Amino acid sequence: MPGTILTELEKTGLDVGIEKLATLSDGEQIPNPKPIQKSEKKVKRAQRDLSRKKKGSKNRDKARQRLAKIHERIRHQRQDYLHKIASYLVWKYGKIVAEDLQIQNMLKNHHLAKSIADAGWGYLFTMLSYKAESVGREFIRVIAHGSSQECSQCGAIVKKDLAERVHRCPHCGLVLDRDHNAAKVLEKRAS
Ligand SMILES: [Zn+2]
Repeated sequence: MPGTILTELEKTGLDVGIEKLATLSDGEQIPNPKPIQKSEKKVKRAQRDLSRKKKGSKNRDKARQRLAKIHERIRHQRQDYLHKIASYLVWKYGKIVAEDLQIQNMLKNHHLAKSIADAGWGYLFTMLSYKAESVGREFIRVIAHGSSQECSQCGAIVKKDLAERVHRCPHCGLVLDRDHNAAKVLEKRAS
């Protein structure tokens, strides 16, 4: 990776998700950080521990501090991971195109809220924007409306519900992973 001379800086779409952190225009998938899932067990244990301590007791204070520490460690792990991903993307691409997510609105949907917060899209986008600017690359946000329904090859609207993971276009015959197709649509929207 380091030391490679890039002769041409490519453009990519970046489709963020919950199962995977992101999918790029060339089909590369960026996984969610694994250690965080493991840490959830620790959180549950610490929460249980806390709930068993008597209110107002010193032990309860200690248990609360332990839980806070675990949360902090998880946040650091997640941010560290997102930093690395942002650096990698900015190193690899001259132009990164992502959706203009209304994260605040999405957080109002409680079902989605935890996953979105865990995935750290907001933090990733902040990092991308900051890192891209500092090295003269571009991080562009485009309106994502309908990007998952549009065919990246012919532009036709191909309706599919959330459970359909594959984009199959009856007009041009394109068959592509749903997120991969969406990333390509985002990329096109920036041009
Ligand atoms: Zn098509």
